[in-house]
Amino acid sequence: MSEKPVKRKKEKKNNYLKKKKLPIRVLTLTVLISVVGLAGLFYLSFSMDKIARIYNNTVKNDYTNLEYMDSISQSFYRHQALVYQYMDNFDNESAKEELEAAAKVFEAEINDEVKEFSDNVIGTVYESSYHTIYSGLNGYFSNVEYIFEFGNVNDYATAEFYMQNMLHGSIAEVNDAVDLFNVLIKDDVNKIQQKMTNNLEVSRVIAIVIIVLLTIFTFIGLAWSVSASREIAFKDALTGVNNIDKIQRDMEKYLKKGRLTDYTCICTNIKDFTIVNQQLGSTVGDMALRNFANTVSQRLDKDERIARIGGDKFILLIRNDKIDEFINFLDKVSITVDYHNEAHIIQLETRCGLCKIKEGYDVGTIVDDAHLALSQTKLKAVDNIWFEENMLEQAYDRKTLLAEYQSAIKHKEFVVYYQPKVNVFDTTLCGAEALVRWWKDDKIVPPFKFIPVLEEEGRVTELDFYVFEQVCQDIRTWLDNGIKPVRISSNFSKLHLRNPQFAEHVLEIVERYNIDSEYLEIELTESSGYEDFDAFTEFVDKMRSKGIHISIDDFGTGYSSLSLLKKLNVDVIKIDKSFIDGIGVGDEMNESLVKNIIYMIKDLNRHVICEGVESWTQAEFLKKQKCHMIQGYLFDKPLPHDDFEARLNSPVYENKMND
Ligand code: C2E
Ligand code: MG
Ligand code: MG
Repeated sequence: MSEKPVKRKKEKKNNYLKKKKLPIRVLTLTVLISVVGLAGLFYLSFSMDKIARIYNNTVKNDYTNLEYMDSISQSFYRHQALVYQYMDNFDNESAKEELEAAAKVFEAEINDEVKEFSDNVIGTVYESSYHTIYSGLNGYFSNVEYIFEFGNVNDYATAEFYMQNMLHGSIAEVNDAVDLFNVLIKDDVNKIQQKMTNNLEVSRVIAIVIIVLLTIFTFIGLAWSVSASREIAFKDALTGVNNIDKIQRDMEKYLKKGRLTDYTCICTNIKDFTIVNQQLGSTVGDMALRNFANTVSQRLDKDERIARIGGDKFILLIRNDKIDEFINFLDKVSITVDYHNEAHIIQLETRCGLCKIKEGYDVGTIVDDAHLALSQTKLKAVDNIWFEENMLEQAYDRKTLLAEYQSAIKHKEFVVYYQPKVNVFDTTLCGAEALVRWWKDDKIVPPFKFIPVLEEEGRVTELDFYVFEQVCQDIRTWLDNGIKPVRISSNFSKLHLRNPQFAEHVLEIVERYNIDSEYLEIELTESSGYEDFDAFTEFVDKMRSKGIHISIDDFGTGYSSLSLLKKLNVDVIKIDKSFIDGIGVGDEMNESLVKNIIYMIKDLNRHVICEGVESWTQAEFLKKQKCHMIQGYLFDKPLPHDDFEARLNSPVYENKMND
């Protein structure tokens, strides 16, 4: 990964993330319309109900009132007849009494009914007609009073004149009121009926509009939620590109159409991606993955596909006619990430396992084959590997290897080689690294063929202790034989950190062989420093308290940062061979990087050693940077026990450096 800062604004938001918001908006809109629609319908039904109630009451009351008015008129005329009868018999006391009693009953009835009527009356129009009727009736009752008064004064002619006028006036008034009442009632009932009909029309239209809108939005919402769930089912949440299920479905489609053989399946991962995560933080790491996925997607034609499997691993389906160009492109992918409020261009390098799709391949196998090819890149330390049928045999070998491993330990097929470490200032032997070899069927199997497999299977820990014990045993023998050993470092896998007894086990072996700790060093690869930080520090502290040195191996390839190293109380940092390879070949940036790393390590008060030194130019450069210790083929390859013993006895190397 290399990087340079550039001026740029914010990271472009992923389209996919934008799209994801749409169904939520539609859902909100649908809910809103439903709520408004339901409220509208509720209001309509409520007002319809109200209108219906008014209508019912009014009509009911109207009819009651009409009947009532009719009965008033009837009893009015009856009463009138009684009045005239009385007037004919002015001195007839019984007629007077009968009339008086009838008038009281009539008044009481009228009062009650008028009261009830007024309680039931709705609207001012009725009230006004009620007042007219009431005043007419009152007039009538006062007339009856007058009749009696006039009766007492025996002035029949005057009495009759007034009585008739008054009675007729009252009757005319009541009749007018009844007429008015009827007109008002009819008019109002008609109006209410008209209003109801209008309202019904309006509410029907509103109801239809609401139902249509709700249906449309429900369908849109449904369609969007289906598409959203497809997104969730087929999209990778972090990067927004497809996931493995989707690419496999698409591949199935191509297979059915007979087009799949036009493509190559690539299984790719980003080299040392953990460095990005560790040094720049997981947020920047996520951004880098998104931008990587976006950048690669932009290079794809419409028919080509990308999917993220997980972590920094992707599957690609690329047309065969484009494959060379695409592999070149994947070699270094420039992406931009923001950190420390600045945009930086970083170059991501990839490893690719490639599977040329042939007739008869099925989709699952294609992806597996590309995956298998990718796993070989690490073992063979190359960037791209094409899948070959024999890889399946090798995968099978993996099973055989695991099966044979146990008996190899038992039969001591694993032997320890020692690679010298040299003091660059006086070119003398100053240490060594113990490296395991497997003597299998009279051939040496190099560690890259079995260590990664054992590590992946979690079986390497046993071998590490086997090697460490062998180292202690060799040191013991040299000491016993009067040969002064040097400090020997042994490699321990990070898997040990999961074992709470790790330190105790190491110390138990050291004590058993009674080895002075100055002869011992433990190498842990840098990645372990991050994953199991607490366990790592605990182990380092325990070892250092016993005087055993700890070194961080392959520094620069994992994801330790210098700031992390500051927290780790280790003794030595081993700069990885990949940095040393770039010395003396005109790679100024790399040289400056090595220079600065050495400077910073020394500034942190740690020792530094560079491994993989193969040329005097490199040795000279490192000497200039005051890196005391170097290890590499320039001085020695890993040596078998006896050769190394000879080296212990003659520890000075020839020096071809131009001082
Ligand atoms: P490492 O610990 O980084 O060891 C250094 C590797 O670089 C060794 O490879 C060594 O032979 C090689 N090397 C050193 N100088 C040069 C050079 O100048 N040029 C080149 N081309 N290579 C150089 P080796 O012995 O094949 O070991 C490979 C890796 O296997 C080791 O890398 C270490 O990670 C692992 N390994 C070896 N022995 C053990 C062991 O006992 N336990 C564990 N866990 N891992 C081991
Ligand atoms: Mg090592
Ligand atoms: Mg190393």
